[in-house]
Amino acid sequence: MATRQDYDLDHIRLTDRPLIVCDIDEVVLEFISPFAAFLRSQNHELLPRSFHLHGNIVSTLDGSVPEAAIVSAFLDAFFAAQDKWQMPAEQAVETLHRLADDADIVFLTAMSPRHRIVRRNLLDRFDLHFPMVATEGPKGPVVTALHGARPLPVAFIDDIERNLLSVREHVPDCLLLTMLANADFRALAPEPCAGIRAVAGWTEAFGLLQAHVCADVRSQTG
Ligand SMILES: [Mg+2]
Repeated sequence: MATRQDYDLDHIRLTDRPLIVCDIDEVVLEFISPFAAFLRSQNHELLPRSFHLHGNIVSTLDGSVPEAAIVSAFLDAFFAAQDKWQMPAEQAVETLHRLADDADIVFLTAMSPRHRIVRRNLLDRFDLHFPMVATEGPKGPVVTALHGARPLPVAFIDDIERNLLSVREHVPDCLLLTMLANADFRALAPEPCAGIRAVAGWTEAFGLLQAHVCADVRSQTG
């Protein structure tokens, strides 16, 4: 089993409460809409033709589709300047603060460590001071290292299926929600796999998360 020492988790102190682990891009912060705006500033556009970035970014100058290395360079430049583009998803800030009354919140973002500081500062600017882990590896082992064998509810929210499946594999009792802030790409998303619940946004997620978290509170106090 992965341990806290395998990851940079020493700054995270969980209380004796349920745990909600939360992806950032397209979940807590809008990603697709601001990335599309960034691309327009670079004479490109993102077309919602399928549930992928690659192949759907097109030059507005000549209609060409940039190769993968160019898309990667766009993404890197966007994340380096994310504090000028990204905003919280609708109801994310308010809902996370309400959930924090009953659960610990930890952000788990699939981001290169070189963009970690700018992301941390951006979250803090939006009053999202919850601890953050940035990793480019599978997310399931990180949730395992965080949560361990604690007999408490745990939930995980992400927009990418492979991350949800990784957590499903490593933390079988975890409530798994998939959420996508951008409505155009949400309509293109594949049907969720077994054990994963799709929610339209934070208002719907709140009810499910609160029920999962408070079920434990009731069992402890009743
Ligand atoms: Mg994401």
